[in-house]
Amino acid sequence: MERELTRRVALKVGAGTVLAGLAGVSLTPGAYAAPAPQGTAPSAPAQASTGLTTAPAAVAANELMEPPPMATRTFGTLRATDWTTPPIRFEYKGKQFRRYPDASKKNHPAEAWVHVYLATWKKSKTEVLVHGGLSKAAAKAKAHAHTLALGRVPNFLRREVKEMRIYSGAHSATSLNRVISIYEGANYPTHRWANVYLHEAAHCLNEKLRANKRLLKKWNRAVAADRVGPKAQRGGFISEYARDHRKGEDFGESVISWLALRFHPDRLAEQAPGAAPFIRAQIPNRMAFFRARGWDTAPWR
Ligand SMILES: [Zn+2]
Repeated sequence: MERELTRRVALKVGAGTVLAGLAGVSLTPGAYAAPAPQGTAPSAPAQASTGLTTAPAAVAANELMEPPPMATRTFGTLRATDWTTPPIRFEYKGKQFRRYPDASKKNHPAEAWVHVYLATWKKSKTEVLVHGGLSKAAAKAKAHAHTLALGRVPNFLRREVKEMRIYSGAHSATSLNRVISIYEGANYPTHRWANVYLHEAAHCLNEKLRANKRLLKKWNRAVAADRVGPKAQRGGFISEYARDHRKGEDFGESVISWLALRFHPDRLAEQAPGAAPFIRAQIPNRMAFFRARGWDTAPWR
């Protein structure tokens, strides 16, 4: 995992941080890299990364753990079998010529014919785009499976996702302008898509937060307080990924850790006994910021 992260190159493009694999894969400017899939960089050696299934080295219960490379992988405790909120309505909107750039292919066109579905929940709607070359039955099954995966993401994050584009190739998932692109050919090592959606949906909310000056100021104050916290290690970030990509990744990595601590302490303890005290030591002020928002976390309970 660590090697995978160091293999990446961070480029500054406008206000956003772009992460691109060294294998020549380039992401849309401003896009954020997701928990990276395995095997998308042909030049990289094979790695035995198994993500959440690999517990970190044993740490005594009263001992703080070291910041993990990526909190989404270590603390993203959403599992494929968890409760989902199915949409109230799931409608076919026909075949449309839409923006659908496939980053897993070279020289991909920006637009293509796609099957469009509309998933409607109580307080939000998400469009799901799948390749137009699929039969209607196959497209529907695929779109519906991804809709149920998104239904496992807490309401306050899911409602920020305007559109999901499903691709068959292998590439990092990305999120930009409330649009998530996910690649089925990628072996995301985090319980299939659940935690990838969680991570990407957090990007959608982060974009909103960054557009709100008043909230951003509060958030920055919380981050600053955590950085000088009495127990904070290595600069008070929840992971190396959050520390290295502060604007783009710190918010989501922290949200996911807070959710894990609040709803799945048992799973955290399975990961590492020191995980819970570590999260409390690293981001207490960020967690107070999250609590103060009064977010609707259903179906997490
Ligand atoms: Zn990300």
